[in-house]
Amino acid sequence: MSLPKVYITRPLPAKAVERLAARYDVKMRPEDAPLDPAQLAESCREIEGLMATGVRVSEDVVAQAPRLRAVANVGVGYDNIDVAACTRRRIPVTNTPDVLTETTADLAFALLLAAPRRLVECDRYVREGQWQSSKWELLWGSDIHGMTLGVYGLGRIGKAVARRARGFSMRVIYYDVVRPAPALEAELGAQFVDRETLLREADFLTLHVPLTPETHHLVGARELSMLRPTAFLINAARGKCVDEAALVEALQSKRLAGAGLDVFEHEPHVHPELLSLPNVVLAPHVGSATARTRLAMAMLAVENLVAGLEGRRPPNLVNPEIYA
Ligand code: NAP
Repeated sequence: MSLPKVYITRPLPAKAVERLAARYDVKMRPEDAPLDPAQLAESCREIEGLMATGVRVSEDVVAQAPRLRAVANVGVGYDNIDVAACTRRRIPVTNTPDVLTETTADLAFALLLAAPRRLVECDRYVREGQWQSSKWELLWGSDIHGMTLGVYGLGRIGKAVARRARGFSMRVIYYDVVRPAPALEAELGAQFVDRETLLREADFLTLHVPLTPETHHLVGARELSMLRPTAFLINAARGKCVDEAALVEALQSKRLAGAGLDVFEHEPHVHPELLSLPNVVLAPHVGSATARTRLAMAMLAVENLVAGLEGRRPPNLVNPEIYA
């Protein structure tokens, strides 16, 4: 009997691939590069399991994969997958929560430190040999300690960022669709506020919501106009949560002091004006990018895929309604 076919869309750590290869007929795409939808659909025609990393799994792709029985996304955000199309076929879709929480929170906090203290500008200043003498007014930044952090979305990563903020003596306020238990608020030292208060009082607004129709352009011109002109926006969630053109306008007109961005509206394209703004720190969507965390993500995705293909309920199922 032939083994079920599994397709991996980008190179993954050998340890994860070996685990799959022991049970399945595995094909892994060797290029660590984008895959166009037609190519992906072509590669999925015969497969039963898909390990999706950095690809869009559209309704079309699902429709052209009649044998598909499990989709494992290597990442916690699964806005790249047409979950509804999979659910209609009762295909389990999984993600990789928890294992990347602390690493992504580290990166969000790194942006939160780097933007107000102008670290990228400082680095450039030294490298370019501009540091010829001491100056009283050299590269003044903004304080972080004692300031108010506004967390938009107090989920796994939002909480981990809030914990870090306590170590920096920050006041933490948050907004979320669901208010967590009072004990957790006390542990985090975080105060629930309404959306408007969050925007008006935050010195640093950090986004940690998933990308959904409700969170698309969650921060647009109106929200930016409510922020303090001394405030910084940190986005390590999804680029489409922010109206990038409105953000550029706010930064250019000094309606906003600065931003730290790991994600962009049209990745990997970055709004050209952002590239020329000195008060913005840019990163190429590397929130979860450490060797340890990427391995943990790959291993968890394997566990999910194996469970799905064996007909067991995967540990990180995002469409539980398929078992209803
Ligand atoms: P999570 O635990 O699900 O947290 C998201 C939080 O946002 C939840 O508390 C959720 O509430 C809340 N939320 C959802 N819709 C909202 C809305 N309209 N208004 C206010 N709050 C809302 O997810 P996570 O693990 O922290 O990850 C968050 C996101 O970060 C991911 O979805 C992903 O897109 C992004 N991410 C980016 C990177 C990177 O490399 N930059 C890495 C990892 C993750 P409910 O639970 O009640 O829905």
